[in-house]
Amino acid sequence: MSKTHVEMIKCPKCKKLSEMTVWDVIDVTDAPEMKQKIRNGEAFRWHCSECDDNSLIFFPTIYHQPGDKYIVSYVPGDPDTAEKCMKDLSNDNESGYNFNNGYTRRVVTDMNQLREKLLILDEGLDDRIIELMKLFIVADIQTSSQDLRITEIYFTKEKDDTYSFAIRFDNDKWGGTAFSKDNYDQVAKTFKTSLLADNEVIIDTEWAVEMLNKNM
Ligand SMILES: [Zn+2]
Repeated sequence: MSKTHVEMIKCPKCKKLSEMTVWDVIDVTDAPEMKQKIRNGEAFRWHCSECDDNSLIFFPTIYHQPGDKYIVSYVPGDPDTAEKCMKDLSNDNESGYNFNNGYTRRVVTDMNQLREKLLILDEGLDDRIIELMKLFIVADIQTSSQDLRITEIYFTKEKDDTYSFAIRFDNDKWGGTAFSKDNYDQVAKTFKTSLLADNEVIIDTEWAVEMLNKNM
């Protein structure tokens, strides 16, 4: 079930206080409109009722999509709290859901990660395979262009519905590389046994490096 509370936010422009609905838990079965709003960031938008100023205020939230047995805890900038939230949730029997049974449970600490995780979910892909693919792509690019370092890499969907990876370099320029389904299937096959045994909730570069080392 969704859970919200109201916070008063002081407008940076006119200093008047306006309400903001903060979603502690988003459950799309009783708040279907939030499915889109969390993906496009509108869930985090606050409006001033006086001067119509608006801004994005990122609050911690738990996003739950029961139909897909998917739950993600988003705690901006705070991995320890995020992980604790997920543990508390896994032990919570009041919700009526058993998050230990066949659930994909994830913890993220920034909005880009959250968006990426939900996109991967929507496309029916496995974020663990995507993270492993990123390692190979980054290694490939770093070998061929040693003067630039990659600072970020995200799975994305292009306007023509094809997939790719968006890559940010340390000179702040963005580039991209195509997503290969063959490569995805190959990685899925190689790591199949290890992935079945894995139940980590933070799936990021660090996780992927560890998974790779275990399989070497
Ligand atoms: Zn205002």
